[in-house]
Amino acid sequence: MRRVMKFGGALMSDAEGIIKVGQLVKEYSSDPLVIVVSAIGKITNSLEKLHTNSGNRDKSEKLFLDIKDYHLNLLDNLFPEGNDELIRAIDVRFNSLLESTNETYENRYEAYDSIVSIGEELSSCIIYHYLLSMGISARLINAKSLITTNSNYTDADVDWNYTQKTIETRINPMLETLDVVVTQGFIGSDISGKPTTLGREGSDFTAAIFGNILNADEVTIWKNVPGLMNSDPARFDDSEKIENISYHEAIELAYYGASVIHPKTIQPLKQKNIPLLVRPYYDSSLKPTIINNNTSNDSNTASIIVKDDQVLMSIGTQNLSFIAEDNLKQIFSAFSRNRIHINMMQNSAVSFSVSFNKDNDKLKALIDDLSMFNLKYNTGLQLLTIRHYTDELINKYVTNKKVYLLQKSRVTVQILLSK
Ligand code: ASP
Ligand code: MG
Repeated sequence: MRRVMKFGGALMSDAEGIIKVGQLVKEYSSDPLVIVVSAIGKITNSLEKLHTNSGNRDKSEKLFLDIKDYHLNLLDNLFPEGNDELIRAIDVRFNSLLESTNETYENRYEAYDSIVSIGEELSSCIIYHYLLSMGISARLINAKSLITTNSNYTDADVDWNYTQKTIETRINPMLETLDVVVTQGFIGSDISGKPTTLGREGSDFTAAIFGNILNADEVTIWKNVPGLMNSDPARFDDSEKIENISYHEAIELAYYGASVIHPKTIQPLKQKNIPLLVRPYYDSSLKPTIINNNTSNDSNTASIIVKDDQVLMSIGTQNLSFIAEDNLKQIFSAFSRNRIHINMMQNSAVSFSVSFNKDNDKLKALIDDLSMFNLKYNTGLQLLTIRHYTDELINKYVTNKKVYLLQKSRVTVQILLSK
């Protein structure tokens, strides 16, 4: 049984989490195993802040030290007797982080990837050393040397040909002799060797890439929830675990923003018919959610997906002429240039309405870019998506709220609401 397992940052936010991950790895280490890890805790967010503030010396120094303290504190708890080799390895990574924050880049996206990718290098280094301390024969391989991408920083596309050759030739032989290969999710590098990232929460996708290329029998995502849930348990008391859904249904859920799985994860698995297991890391005896090619359970459960902080923008022509294909072309290229993903859209004769996630810098740039149009916008809205909806469900969530846009297909309803 060949397995790829992904461990997210939430599972590894403290020493106890790392210890638990170590136990799980040990449990499965008699078979060929690749583990893919994210940055610990919410370190990716902290690194994003460090990147945003890299022009401000005092602020960035403080942010850097906070990130360092968080890691060193975890190491103290994980290795109360100390681990000099690990401390040295961590120091090397913090030195590169410092260098990355001081370097000059062609653009802010390139800087982002150089800085933010170090979170995964730190976490993988910790896990690797912890596995060694448990007597597991492990090898740490930097995903930057395995995953080749284009230079579309912050959301890079994988070059499958290069990546396949590298992973096959380097990882296959290791799986014959070692207990575990440890690598990072989310990160890669472009042809010139510059760090890239695959988009926030991209570690799931990395696990799927390895699963596909290594012909794994299964890919597992360990979670701090019972499995794939039909809604966010942090938001809804009645959220339920889904036992089984198809690849197709999982792609739809991820597309609409279910935070459980990165949208790009499913395709590489579907291609080789590799089941994706979503399992609770705190109890490996519980049944996982299984995502495979079985479509018969897809409509058993309605799923509810909420996206906060939406902007609704209405775009009209200045002379009240119709919004037609040539205007739409201009509008879409402005969104694409500013890397703004449209969550929902609707048009009337003289205006085109879109909703998207709020990002102040991007919003400003978009407004500049669309200056030839009349723009009106609202912020602070909520986008609710219900798959396999019923009228009762719609009523339940819409009562007492103002509806700004509503769109229904046979299976899905999307509603843009006041909060
Ligand atoms: N650490 C990255 C993030 O938080 C990637 C991941 O967790 O999958 O976005
Ligand atoms: Mg993460």
